Amino acid sequence: MRKKQNRDLMNHISKRIPAHLDDTMQSLHNEVFEEVDCLTCANCCRTTSPIFQSKDIDRISKRLRIRPVQMIETYLKIDEDGDYVLKSSPCPFLQDDNRCNIYDDRPTACRTYPHTDRKKFHQLLDLTYKNSFICPAVQKMLIKLENIVK
Ligand code: SF4
Ligand code: SF4
Repeated sequence: MRKKQNRDLMNHISKRIPAHLDDTMQSLHNEVFEEVDCLTCANCCRTTSPIFQSKDIDRISKRLRIRPVQMIETYLKIDEDGDYVLKSSPCPFLQDDNRCNIYDDRPTACRTYPHTDRKKFHQLLDLTYKNSFICPAVQKMLIKLENIVK
């Protein structure tokens, strides 16, 4: 666990945003996901919930052939920020083989997780810090990033 190192790295970046940080993160993201196989992990699906936007709820309920209100009642709750999230974990759509049962229609937040290739990465430092304890790919990226920026 690199709690202190990751916190120090985030503090270092927030004090002085390195030049070309988004490009660096995009490269590290690509490099690490060449090595990491999400199908042998699924820790994000097992331990955290994506946010379900209304468009996600509409699309998924259509796929499940239930009404959006039924989907909300069955699977979702409102969190402290007022967003719809899963009632329980692991995610009920996670299959035994670590595949997603609704893969083509999964929430946008699942598609973009762990958000390490997003523009304005410097705005996601706290989230990335938290995700480094969930996602081994993020942890690997931060170790590589530390060598570049510190
Ligand atoms: S919807 Fe699919 S990708 Fe998203 S958390 Fe659930 S199993 Fe994982
Ligand atoms: S936690 Fe990270 S490495 Fe694991 S399945 Fe999720 S995105 Fe992939």
